Amino acid sequence: MFNFKIGFRPLNLPLRHTFTISRWSRDTAANVLVELEADGITGLGEAAPNARYNESQESCMAWLGAFDLSALKNPFDVEAVLRAMDATGPGDYSAKVALEMALYDWIGKKLQVPLYDLWNAQSRFGPQTCFTVGIDATEKLPDRVREAARYPVLKIKLGTDRDEEIINTIRSVTDKPIWVDANEGWKTLDRAKQMVSFLADQNVQMIEQPMPSSMKQELAQLKAYSPVITMADESFTGRESVEELAACFHGINIKLMKTGSIRRALQMIHGGRRAGLNIMIGCMIESSLANTAAALVSLWCDYADLDGHLLISEDPYVGLQFDEDLKVYLPEKSGLGVELRS
Ligand SMILES: [Mg+2]
Repeated sequence: MFNFKIGFRPLNLPLRHTFTISRWSRDTAANVLVELEADGITGLGEAAPNARYNESQESCMAWLGAFDLSALKNPFDVEAVLRAMDATGPGDYSAKVALEMALYDWIGKKLQVPLYDLWNAQSRFGPQTCFTVGIDATEKLPDRVREAARYPVLKIKLGTDRDEEIINTIRSVTDKPIWVDANEGWKTLDRAKQMVSFLADQNVQMIEQPMPSSMKQELAQLKAYSPVITMADESFTGRESVEELAACFHGINIKLMKTGSIRRALQMIHGGRRAGLNIMIGCMIESSLANTAAALVSLWCDYADLDGHLLISEDPYVGLQFDEDLKVYLPEKSGLGVELRS
């Protein structure tokens, strides 16, 4: 029997540059740090609450403060802990995954084993990551691209009324492969088809969330039309049927802050594969703490977009790393393997 204590507090992360996507613009990520302590061992977790899913720093901390820690009476029975989290109702997924992350980190530290070993990953190296360029003034884009010189693949945020201009500007400075993320920004099938045709000739390897998640029929028609693979992001929270997703997209972008669980994310990867879906792991704007948990899941994924911690100016943690090919890898340390930056 372990006597768990939980601590949580705001983790406000200033960004290197104002980051803009089709729905919002921000200078700080308002995240939450979770510390779960028992037996002299502290497990760490991080939440990145997202307004798209009706979450805030306040709502996240309210959920953490209300969660009954007696659910952790057998901390190694994570499935039972997840059922107790489910019983609190839908929503609050970033808070839920932050608590589960802290619990898994604690379990790994208690057993003195890295989680990738505990889960029998083939190696501690995952896919190559892309680097995201947010929406910016046209004259600033070449500098943004130059700052990303180290990264072999760029992810470009679109969904504006000047998307062609953005791509033409990027293409005037680099011919690197591009992943596009429209963040639901193309509001009609005609506009989406027009953009897909334009992008297909621009060395674009995937298009994330071309249209609003509510436009299921149009997304299915676009999948049939598009020579470029389309990926569900806002359309995929982890609570949809994989058959329905496979009708509308070629792949899914898994984010822990949406699925609300690392364990369930791994189960979704296996379900998605059976339905023929490409699997991508993404992130919100997070420190190296939450992004190391995402890097752990990336060991079972085809594509990785794990640059969230690179967008913040003072990352408080050290965890996931990239090799010379920008393949993500996990530290050889117990649990998640994350440490405070000294
Ligand atoms: Mg996205």
